[in-house]
Amino acid sequence: MSIYFLANARIVDGTSAEPGAPVGVVIENDVIRDVSATAKAPEGATVIDLTGKFLMPGLIDAHVHINAIDASLARCAQLPNSLVMARSMKLLGEMLGRGFTTVRDVGGAEHGQVLAVEEGLFDSPRLVIAGKALSQSGGHCDFRGPFDSNPPTTSTKLGALGRLCDGVPEVRKAAREEIKNGARFIKIMANGGVASPTDPIHFLGFSREEITAIVEEARNAGTYVSAHLYTDEGIRRAVECGVHSLEHCNLITEETARFAAEQGAVAVPTLVTYDKLSSEGEALGIGAEAVGKVDDVRLAGMESLSRMHKAGLPMAYGSDLLGAMHRHQSEEFVIRGRVLPAQLVIASATHIAAKLCRMEGKIGTVAPGAFADLIVVDGNPLEDLSLLTFQGRHLSLIMKGGKVIKRA
Ligand SMILES: [Zn+2]
Repeated sequence: MSIYFLANARIVDGTSAEPGAPVGVVIENDVIRDVSATAKAPEGATVIDLTGKFLMPGLIDAHVHINAIDASLARCAQLPNSLVMARSMKLLGEMLGRGFTTVRDVGGAEHGQVLAVEEGLFDSPRLVIAGKALSQSGGHCDFRGPFDSNPPTTSTKLGALGRLCDGVPEVRKAAREEIKNGARFIKIMANGGVASPTDPIHFLGFSREEITAIVEEARNAGTYVSAHLYTDEGIRRAVECGVHSLEHCNLITEETARFAAEQGAVAVPTLVTYDKLSSEGEALGIGAEAVGKVDDVRLAGMESLSRMHKAGLPMAYGSDLLGAMHRHQSEEFVIRGRVLPAQLVIASATHIAAKLCRMEGKIGTVAPGAFADLIVVDGNPLEDLSLLTFQGRHLSLIMKGGKVIKRA
């Protein structure tokens, strides 16, 4: 049995605007056993003194694509599965090195990858996956141009973001298959997208009947639907149809944000990806037309944060980066910190994201019974969110499930 005792731990977890008073934390194997001012080091424990440092639950990124190992999603779907798997393993190791101990994949990941992580074959964050995202023909997972009438690339490729389905019977079947294949929730593309060639941002993906049918299938399986969304019209329609997790939301109005909050929905902004697509996208070969679409959503994004905040709509952390741009994963903290209180920004990557992963109490918290997914920060992130950037340079300890990943 491995036992750790973290002494003088001041906890920063997004539930308070100030770090907690120093406590002791007892870790037994993969679980936290005790968190209290009176906790003592058990016999045989490895003691780590955190005086002058700050303890956080491992971070959670609620919007990633672990198989988006190339800036071009169309190219990802062409690559051999073996290469995609190898590159995604590297990517996952790097995410863990930035302090992300859980990531929610919103399109592309397969259950075999979840099993490989659970078997401990390589260092990786925990995975909560949607399987292949559902898209209509001509929607955000259709990478065929206007003169390409060939059948779409097969969705069985590991690097494919999603699958195409049209009409109520097909979307029900697709949702059922993804759930059978190990999806923990269902992802749909309900607005146009930046990376797909024939759907401007304002396009609505799927009919109301189709979305409602998918929501019913998800609920039948005890879970929820997450939707790719930009426009206010698209977001309102999705919430009316019962969609729970609202990705991006760049063009949301305060009124719709309030409606979404009343319905218990959660937003997952992903501002860093538009920043990087705009500055690096063309050099990485994603095409001028896609880069042109970025500004339609990039500039409105910052205002969307304050609107959602005012409306009381909870926001989870999301990055949504592709290929080499993944290295900017932690910069979303700093971008949001320009508009939102640091406490809320931290909460987005702890308890709010944990709830969206349906792992409340298990991740995103430093509490008895939770997994020992922990990071130690050299300074107070409530005062300086950029301590969470720089590829984990300011993290002196990263632990996942009681296993020390990094100790500086
Ligand atoms: Zn995405």
